[in-house]
Amino acid sequence: MSRKDGRAARRVAVSDLKSWYERYRRLYYVGYDLPPVESVKFSWTVEDPNTHGETDPDVWPPHIEMHEEIRFFPRLVMLVLLHEMSHWAHPKAEHGPRWNEEAKRLGKLGALREFF
Ligand SMILES: [Zn+2]
Repeated sequence: MSRKDGRAARRVAVSDLKSWYERYRRLYYVGYDLPPVESVKFSWTVEDPNTHGETDPDVWPPHIEMHEEIRFFPRLVMLVLLHEMSHWAHPKAEHGPRWNEEAKRLGKLGALREFF
């Protein structure tokens, strides 16, 4: 992938993904039961490519998968990662009214500031 300035866009490294996960867990999910960092990975097998990410707190072993297609878009990776982590923080919330409360909670903590 190239840009106007001729430099190649950098793919998000697995180490970036894991360090963001640890950072978000420390900043925004204290007291919530989230899976270990080893559960987070990029994958081509995310079932719904429109969501760019996938997790299911009811499935063992725990997994948080980010679609390989978004690896050139770091901010999108960060946002999808927060989304998937919130599914762990509120396993029964789905995307209903309680999900909106989670978005507000993250907003109040400043978690969404870098995306707006
Ligand atoms: Zn979701």
